Amino acid sequence: MSSNFPPATSSRNLEQLKTLLNQEGFRLTRQRQKILEIFRSLPEGDHLGAEEIYQTLTNAGETIGISTIYRALHLMVNMGLLRELDLAEGRKLYELATPSVHEHHHLVCVQCGAVQEFEETSMATVGVQEAERHGFALLNCQFTVYAVCPTCQGQLRSP
Ligand SMILES: [Zn+2]
Ligand SMILES: [Zn+2]
Repeated sequence: MSSNFPPATSSRNLEQLKTLLNQEGFRLTRQRQKILEIFRSLPEGDHLGAEEIYQTLTNAGETIGISTIYRALHLMVNMGLLRELDLAEGRKLYELATPSVHEHHHLVCVQCGAVQEFEETSMATVGVQEAERHGFALLNCQFTVYAVCPTCQGQLRSP
């Protein structure tokens, strides 16, 4: 048995990405790899926007343009490696696309943009039912709840 067996699914994701990128004629550039690494090191339940990735990479001494980051994110979404979330108006957030067992939904504060994840299987049940009823093949079922978080509610109430 090999002693340097890949420790986690993340290694498999990276191999998967390399294969996909090669198939599509894209190279897994060092910078794209860095972007993927940022997502893999994120605490669960965190989401990032292009600006935050730009900040993180710039702080780490990388010379990268924001448009390169947008292109890389777009590419990885198309590859099925990242999921694009249209949670806040005019601001797209990204997270690693996890297997369907980890599918979750989002509660979003419309004031400050805070995002809380939650799991609720009944949404997927409704999604499957509706898709089947109309003869659609279900790919993904995302539910987004727009609300005002406790902190922002406090600010609204204060004089
Ligand atoms: Zn999420
Ligand atoms: Zn808020």
